Amino acid sequence: MVKLFIDPGHGGSDPGAVANGLQEKNLTLSIAIALRDYLTSHYQDISIRMSRTSDQSIALSERTRMANQWGADFYLSIHINAGGGVGFESYIWNRQFTNKSRTQQLRSTIHQAIIRQTDWRDRGQKEANFHVLRETTMPAILTENGFIDHQEEARSMRKSNWIDQVAEAHAIGIAEAFHLKTNTAPPTQNGQTLYRVVAGSFIHERNAREQINALQNKGYDSYVLPYREQNQTYFRVVAGAFNQRSNAENRLKALKNDGFDGFIVVV
Ligand SMILES: [Zn+2]
Repeated sequence: MVKLFIDPGHGGSDPGAVANGLQEKNLTLSIAIALRDYLTSHYQDISIRMSRTSDQSIALSERTRMANQWGADFYLSIHINAGGGVGFESYIWNRQFTNKSRTQQLRSTIHQAIIRQTDWRDRGQKEANFHVLRETTMPAILTENGFIDHQEEARSMRKSNWIDQVAEAHAIGIAEAFHLKTNTAPPTQNGQTLYRVVAGSFIHERNAREQINALQNKGYDSYVLPYREQNQTYFRVVAGAFNQRSNAENRLKALKNDGFDGFIVVV
């Protein structure tokens, strides 16, 4: 069980950075909630607590106290940048400390996954003497997710899928860093061989969801199955699973007649 503490930056009387009609505290909370929901619905053996789940004022010392007292395995603080720049950067504590090499390793995996899963310019893996990085007793990182005062980035922040995309990118990074197992899809029967018909494989889950809608319109039930290959997570759309290869081949043929590409994987 991995105990993850998610800290949405700012809140209540502290809005954080404010620009272009947006407040940092609202974006960080939305990302944190989406991240929590994404991780708990997609992965096994993860327990999550948050420093806040609403628009509350919470002192930095209270945030780190909560995580330390719980005995979290990892502390993730989510922020939005400001001050005239563009892109993504992450921080760990800038001193020598017990968990430093482990912290560097976890941060590097998560940072790289976020860059890979998004269109962000990589501003680098940085270090700073922030309270939440210094006063936590477990590996801790802080992410700065785009610039609220950059007009173009602010425009994308207002789109509904931006929050989901940032949350998904963090989730994939965390899953890779902690080797989380994905939730099992409809189970195989008593260890029998299963032939899954995959109708598309996507880097972004939202594209997999669109494919599911398209399949649904043609009368095919399908579901998403995350799949990891060579450090990249793909979202496979499974449109049928069969104990007989011939049944899987028939399904694949039907899908192709309806204009879907696909392939069979043997489980
Ligand atoms: Zn902040």
